Order: sequence, then structure tokens, then C-alpha cells
Amino acid sequence: MPDVPPAAPTNWARNITFSAAEVHRPSTVGALRELVADSAHIRVLGSGHSFNRIADVDAGRSGVLISLAALPGGIEVDPAARTVRVGGGVRYAELAEALDARGLALPNMASLPHISVAGSVATGTHGSGNGNRSLAESVRAVELLTADGGTVTLARGDAGFDGAVVSLGALGVVLSLTLDVEPAYHVTQHVFRELPFQGLDFAAVSAAAYSVSLFTDWRAPRFFQVWVKQRMPAPVDFPWAEPAVVAQHPVPGMSAVHCTEQLGVPGPWHHRLPHFRAEFTPSSGDELQSEYLLPRAHAVAALEALDAVRERIAPVLQVCEVRTVAADRQWLSPASGRETVAFHFTWVADTARVLPVVSLVEERLRAFDPRPHWGKVFTVDPGRVAAGYAHAADFAALAERLDPEGKFSNAFVRALLPR
Ligand SMILES: Cc1cc2nc3c(=O)[nH]c(=O)nc-3n(C[C@H](O)[C@H](O)[C@H](O)COP(=O)(O)OP(=O)(O)OC[C@H]3O[C@@H](n4cnc5c(N)ncnc54)[C@H](O)[C@@H]3O)c2cc1C
Repeated sequence: MPDVPPAAPTNWARNITFSAAEVHRPSTVGALRELVADSAHIRVLGSGHSFNRIADVDAGRSGVLISLAALPGGIEVDPAARTVRVGGGVRYAELAEALDARGLALPNMASLPHISVAGSVATGTHGSGNGNRSLAESVRAVELLTADGGTVTLARGDAGFDGAVVSLGALGVVLSLTLDVEPAYHVTQHVFRELPFQGLDFAAVSAAAYSVSLFTDWRAPRFFQVWVKQRMPAPVDFPWAEPAVVAQHPVPGMSAVHCTEQLGVPGPWHHRLPHFRAEFTPSSGDELQSEYLLPRAHAVAALEALDAVRERIAPVLQVCEVRTVAADRQWLSPASGRETVAFHFTWVADTARVLPVVSLVEERLRAFDPRPHWGKVFTVDPGRVAAGYAHAADFAALAERLDPEGKFSNAFVRALLPR
């Protein structure tokens, strides 16, 4: 048998081959601590659902890429304190089941439960809803294994805490996160069809329920689906479009069996807030993604700016989702300090064809002060991205304090925040 070298690790979308030959999976905190102490350059990989090199080690620096998925002791609920302590490798699917079994819940989830909690909050991941803040805002404490092998815990209210959650993986290994939880609740999910852009009252539509997501393929000036998730017992009142009578998948041609239950059937929060079921491939599985977060007041003007180039967008697009996020306090959250509307693009899996259109979208949105999602594809000049954050320099100082040698930094982070 010829020796076949093991394939280099890739991200979920397979558009990124990491610059490390393998992913180390320590099974004890002791082994992890040793790896950190013995490595000059190290990065943690979450579940690998980002679409760029944010999680990667630098080529040529003999970096060590690690996953915490094999570490034991992932989820400790404290019902009296209404908190849960989550290990650095735990995914939302596992966490949500454990919380619901204890009668507890998170306020919101992203479109999929497959992603790790630490990786998600590190990139400012969010769901939808005018009143729902990014997932990072549920974090009340971060326990970091730092470059010198020590452990640092930063809790809400501590100096630097607002920079320590959306960390881009640059501060150290997140050993655990403590999250706020609340009593479990039920949600209904309805999909409505064919909402024209013409005459759109975006403020009213986005405020119509707990979570609203609008989907367009840019083939016509309309949203072909609107996903409306309402917390029970509040009723659903959506007078602008007709309800779908069979379950829908937001990506045209995909089976709705991948999606969480619709048609208004009440169900537990974690089986309705994500669009996709934990046991199926989320989205289309063969794709690239980009997303831009801008002040919500620009929603309609931004929609019009993109509508003017929809003939260029549509051929490389699978679906575009428009949703809202409440302002948060995290220094590097793309929703930091402003009520936000997010324009998300699920592209075809063809980087060469997609990148020019990504640049076009960025050019069209430039006037609206967009911040790209840290975990998705963007081509904006990194200096311009950093300029969009009032606390970029504070974050750079925090990284310098916790990791003076830049052990956890990488090319992606350095380009944004020169040290
Ligand atoms: C199908 C699909 C749907 C998506 N839907 C949404 C959505 O609805 N909303 C949204 O906002 N985003 C969405 N995303 C983007 C996704 O949420 C982000 O890319 C997120 O970062 C993924 O988490 P991860 O665990 O895969 O992180 P990774 O990509 O593995 O890592 C992201 C960052 O986290 C760091 N990191 C991970 N774990 C640790 C740790 N323990 N310690 C230190 N650093 C760590 C990594 O170093 C890296 O910098 C989607 C992505 C996909 C593929």
C-alpha cells in the first residue's frame, strides 16, 4: 500500500486549507497547558464554520492548531444563579439540549446549532430580532488560558471584559465561558411568501415578532420568504404577506426536512430559533458566505443600493438574508454600539466568481458604514475595517497585555490590528 499523506485540515466549507498539518486534540487541561507552554504560535479551532483564515495559524511559523472538542466536563448548570459554565469546545446543539432539559434557555441562537459557543462569540455571531443582541452578550465571564500558561478570568464589569468575548481568538485559549440563562420558553415559526420591496415598512416588519428574517435571491425586487419566530404566548400578526402552507427551505431547491418546524407548530426555543436542525446539514453545505452589519436606519437605502446591482448579485448567489440585531457593548462586535441591520449572502462555492461580487456589494454598502462579519468572506481593506470600531486600539492594548509575544495572533488579526 503506498503511503498517502493525511489530508491537511480544512474549514467546514472546505474553501480554507489550514496552514497546520494536523489539528491537536488534547484530552486533558494539563495536556492543553503543556501544548500552549511549548508552542511559539498557537490558534484554537472551534467547529470550523468560519469562511476565512480567522482561525488559522500563520504559514511559515510552525504554528499549532488545536481543538478543545476532546476536553471533558463541558456543561455545568447553576440553576440558582441562572448561569451555565460551558467548556471551550462545546457546541450550541449540545448546550441547548442540556439547558432545555433543566427548564432553562438562551435568549437567542444563530441560524444553526452546529457551531461552537466559544468560536461563535469570538466572531460576534448573532441571530435575528430587533431586541436580540449578539450571542456574545449572554457571556458574563471568560476563563482564558494565556500565553504564559496562566489562567485569567474576566467577568462582566472587569476592566477589559468588553474586549474579551469577541476576541477573534487572539487573547488566549477560552477554557470556559459563563453564560446567563433564563427560563425555557416556546416559540412558533411561520414562513410568509412574497413581500415586495416596493412600499416596505422595514421598521414595522422587523418589529413584527421576536425574530424576523427576510430572504431574497435578488432575482426580483422582493423577499420570497419571511421567517417569523414568535415567543409564546404572543400572537403572530404579519399582515404584509401570505403564510406558506408547506414547510420551506430558504435555499431554493433544498428540502425543508433540514429546517426547524414551521407552520406555527409551537415548540421549544432551541427547535425553532435556529433555521436548521442539528441533525442535518445546515444551509446548502456547498457555499461561501459574507455578511455586513450596518446601522438599522440605513436598511431601506442599503436595500435600494443593492437592488440597483441585483443582476450582478443573483448569478453567484444562493440566498440573501436580511435580519436585525440589537446594539451591544462588546468592543469588536459588528453590532457594537448601534441598532443594526445585517445583510447576509450565501454565495455559490466558487471563490473566483464570488469575490468580484463581494467587492461590488462592499462598494454599494460603503456609504452606510458597514462592518463585515468576522467569520465570513470580505475583501475590504483591513485598515478600513478597524477604523469602524471605536475600541480597536483598546482591543490591541488588551491583546498586547495578555499576549505580549503574539503567540495567539495570526495574519488575519495583525492585518486588522497592527501591534
Ligand atoms: C452554515 C452556516 C451558517 C451560519 N449562520 C450564522 C448566523 O446565523 N449568524 C452569524 O452571525 N454567523 C453565522 N455563521 C458564521 C459562524 O457563526 C461563525 O463563523 C462562527 O465563528 C463559527 O463558530 P466556530 O466554532 O465554527 O468558529 P471557528 O470558525 O472554528 O473559529 C472562529 C474564531 O474563534 C476562535 N476560537 C474558537 N474556539 C476558541 C477557543 N476555545 N478559544 C479561543 N479562540 C477560539 C478561533 O480561533 C477563530 O478565531 C454561519 C456559518 C455557517 C457555516
